[in-house]
Amino acid sequence: MEISALFARREPVFSCEFFLPKTPEETDAFLCDVRALKAFNPSFVTLTYGAGGSARDRTIAVAGRMHNEVGIETACHLAGITHTRPEIARNLERIRALGITNIVALRGDRPKDRAAPLPGDFPHALDLVAFIRKAGGFHLAVAGYPEGHPETRSREADIARLAAKVRAGGEWVITQLFFDNRHYFDFTAAARRAGVTAPIVPGIMPVTGFAQLKRFTTMCGASIPPQMAADLESIQDDAEAVVRYGITWATRQCRELLERGAPGIHFYTLNRSRSTAEILVALRKAG
Ligand code: FAD
Repeated sequence: MEISALFARREPVFSCEFFLPKTPEETDAFLCDVRALKAFNPSFVTLTYGAGGSARDRTIAVAGRMHNEVGIETACHLAGITHTRPEIARNLERIRALGITNIVALRGDRPKDRAAPLPGDFPHALDLVAFIRKAGGFHLAVAGYPEGHPETRSREADIARLAAKVRAGGEWVITQLFFDNRHYFDFTAAARRAGVTAPIVPGIMPVTGFAQLKRFTTMCGASIPPQMAADLESIQDDAEAVVRYGITWATRQCRELLERGAPGIHFYTLNRSRSTAEILVALRKAG
């Protein structure tokens, strides 16, 4: 399936992102969770790519099982960082052999030593996008950052680099998570001014824990709205209340985004499908 073609339809495109289970032993249980979410009819799912160690090989194999055993359209994330060209070429052949034709093309997270030059033949996502386009046969998504990428000082430079990735072959954009829709609307307007016409799909993460939220947002540079922080502070010891709060907040975000023209929603499920499933039901009920 050509995922980018789905955006030409009038219906919102819902997708769900999973990450690789920590150990191979957890894979079967993980696939059961993916199967359970399939019942809620997302248009497709994605699996993040672990650029280090054995995760490199496992990611593609597990994405293949999602695609072929669970039988749900799966886009494979691929991060270029630390890889050489022959390694990426091999990965592309493996992905192709599994029948997967959609890839989320990324740089990958920088190693801890931020001053060190980026290792491998793909220091920027743009390099990977160009390489995959040249190889041919794949449809590509790229990442965008409504609050700016943490390494970028200039918002304009960030948007210009996004535009370059799209020109090089990115067919749709998935954004980093955010909790205040104003970031998405401002970012989308700036991207349009810079000539990006590709669909920009907002990435939404239903909050399931306050400590985890603080960790994630520190890592990816997203901000926590003061109201959300205050609310979560007061209920943080009640796990169920936090999950419910996350569902309510994310549902409100999704409704406004869709009402104001977002082409769909990409859910960061954190491999916990319950919140995403409830939000999908609520959105469909609301039409
Ligand atoms: P790039 O587009 O290369 O941008 C990274 C930074 O470099 C930006 O600051 C950009 O402005 C700057 N830059 C770009 N080109 C140049 C240039 N020519 N000169 C100087 N600076 C430049 N990580 C994983 O490891 N695995 C995953 O599966 C994964 N999935 C993700 C999915 C989504 C939807 C998102 C939003 C992120 C994901 N990440 C993943 C995290 C991602 O790898 C990091 O955010 C990474 O730091 C940047 O990746 P990128 O593809 O946006 O890189």
